[in-house]
Order: sequence, then C-alpha cells, then structure tokens
Amino acid sequence: MQVELVKTFTFDAAHSLPAAPNGHKCKRIHGHSYRVDIHVSGEVDRQRGWLMDFGDLKCLVAPIIDELDHRNLDELDDLPNSTSEMLAKYIWDRLLPSLSALSAVTVWESASSRCIYRGV
Ligand SMILES: [Zn+2]
Repeated sequence: MQVELVKTFTFDAAHSLPAAPNGHKCKRIHGHSYRVDIHVSGEVDRQRGWLMDFGDLKCLVAPIIDELDHRNLDELDDLPNSTSEMLAKYIWDRLLPSLSALSAVTVWESASSRCIYRGV
C-alpha cells in the first residue's frame, strides 16, 4: 500500500528579491508568514500500519524551520535569492540526507501562492 504523508510547518521571515526586475515591489525588504508542507511517500509498514511516525517527521524538520523563523533570509549565505522556488530547494537539500522518503516540499508564501519542489 503506497501513501503520501504531508506535515505542515509555519515560520515568519523577512527577505528581498535582488534578482526581481527594477521597480518590482519584491526588491524591497518585506515579510511573509510562510507555510511549508513536507511530503513523504512510500510503502506502509504492514506491522505498524504507517509509513512513518509524524512525530519523527517533526523532529527532522523542526530544526530546519527554526533556522528560518524570524530571520532575514537575505543573510543566509546558501540562499542568495530567496524566492519560494529557491526556498523549497534549500529546505529539500537540507532534509533529504536524513529523510529518504521525502517526495516534495511545498512553500506557501501567501494563502494563494505556493511552489511545489519534487527534487528535479
Ligand atoms: Zn517575498
């Protein structure tokens, strides 16, 4: 039985987008209340009846989210252009070594705008 689990995290951060066109509002520093959905996919363990423990997933993801929370993302050396796309990849790259079942990272920068990254 194949399933996909999704756990949602939130954080608040400031940033600017230096590569945005001149005059674009996102070139100015501003903030978002981000939502991040972490997706894991795979086979359900027959004995336990789950793919993985949501608590274990939280333990793996929370330190990454804590690094981003109440930060100016412009100050992160590994994230020079913190679009939702690059932020999703940033989270993916940090999480994948400890979470092989990772199948997608969704970054919501507003209630209506999100990026889904599946590692390709
Ligand atoms: Zn923004």
